[in-house]
Amino acid sequence: MNKEKSVIQITVREQILEKLGNRCRCGETNTEVLQLDHKLGQGYLEKQFFKSRQEMFEQYLKEFEYESKYLQILCFNCNVKKRNRLQETKKRPGINDIKVLNKPFDEANPAEVIELLWNYPQFRPLVRRQVRMIQRIYKEVQENKE
Ligand SMILES: [Zn+2]
Repeated sequence: MNKEKSVIQITVREQILEKLGNRCRCGETNTEVLQLDHKLGQGYLEKQFFKSRQEMFEQYLKEFEYESKYLQILCFNCNVKKRNRLQETKKRPGINDIKVLNKPFDEANPAEVIELLWNYPQFRPLVRRQVRMIQRIYKEVQENKE
């Protein structure tokens, strides 16, 4: 028996689906049609924070308790319905959205910045990924002031 072939390779994605229960809210359990959904939508933004999908999935596993709050399993049908209902588009932040970012950050504390950006759905994936980074930068700025 070929030793390599006897090793069952469970992909990182499959591990995440399993930890999330391998089940859509409609009851579908056929793993062929189950998909990992970003609750906040616009998963394409999320992907930009990683070099690859593999790296993204590894991060989800590594910090599963935190990351899983933003993930859910949907079957193909439920995912299509969600997209149509929320009219999720691949719209990138426009010029009016970018203006929000011009508010001087050094005068706002991280909580304010995060709250401000959170009001814009198109920034939410970015905000949640950068919360820790913003907090760290703010802390460094404060320490250097003293
Ligand atoms: Zn479903």
